[in-house]
Amino acid sequence: MRIKEIEATSIMTPSRLPDADFVINAYMGCHFGCLYCYASFMGRFIRAKSGGPEPISEWGNYVYVKTNAAKLATQELGVWKQKRPQLLRSTVLMSSVTDPYQGIEAKYRLTRSILAAFVEAEFPGVLGVLTKSAMVTRDIDLLKRLPNADVGVTVTTSDDEVSRFLEIRAPLASRRIETLRRLNAAGIPTYAFVGPLLPHFLHRPDLLDDLFARLKDVGVRQVYIEHMNLRTNNTRQRLFQVLTNASVGVKEAYATASREDHREALDAIVTDLLAKHGLNIRLGGVLRHNQPSKGTRG
Ligand code: SF4
Repeated sequence: MRIKEIEATSIMTPSRLPDADFVINAYMGCHFGCLYCYASFMGRFIRAKSGGPEPISEWGNYVYVKTNAAKLATQELGVWKQKRPQLLRSTVLMSSVTDPYQGIEAKYRLTRSILAAFVEAEFPGVLGVLTKSAMVTRDIDLLKRLPNADVGVTVTTSDDEVSRFLEIRAPLASRRIETLRRLNAAGIPTYAFVGPLLPHFLHRPDLLDDLFARLKDVGVRQVYIEHMNLRTNNTRQRLFQVLTNASVGVKEAYATASREDHREALDAIVTDLLAKHGLNIRLGGVLRHNQPSKGTRG
């Protein structure tokens, strides 16, 4: 994997997401390389002077590290405090187009340093973290010092083979479910991000039933669910390349995943299973991609 250190000019970006006012992405690119990740288009925004732009086909093979991310967070929080105190009530999400706890965070510790900046600033707003990595538990000490921190862990399946297949270098699904258990045991508010909602659950609702049961078992109370976004060519191409040997039913489920009748049928399954397991869904229902969404996620 190629790693390149760069300096950013700002770190808190205004967001159109339904549940975040600002997003922080201390890394550009993501080593986890999930096949369904529609942040793969982000490479085109990397400036030539930094070494970009990066083609979509390279997603998962590069990470640009914003080495001054924590310093910028401190500066920007300082400006909020002095000149725009109303922003201190914002909801800030880390991250929307990368994973804040991908492997190189162990070396650079940018996410930890940003959390420390928020603690230092006594940030009273909501600081949300979204990840697929167990490394988030390293920072429980800082998360506990923020009055309104919450952590989302993305879990799209309870089957480790499926997660290895779709989320190529991300920690296995079972590891993420265990991470939720540890966060809940530590008293950190959590939710599971079930996104994208895998299209084949339409034919195998028992698999979604199993996922919800496992989430409930580790103390999850809230889920955030998003339909798969296959409207962009790059995501469709990457996924269909690897579905070559899948059954006709599975291929068809993915081919029709963006159709409204498919989504409505999945919504009905989700509603029944949420009620069965006593889980609450955030934002009132399964999100669609004509709405602003969480980003990758992530
Ligand atoms: S979906 Fe999230 S974890 Fe996966 S590659 Fe994209 S940013 Fe990384």
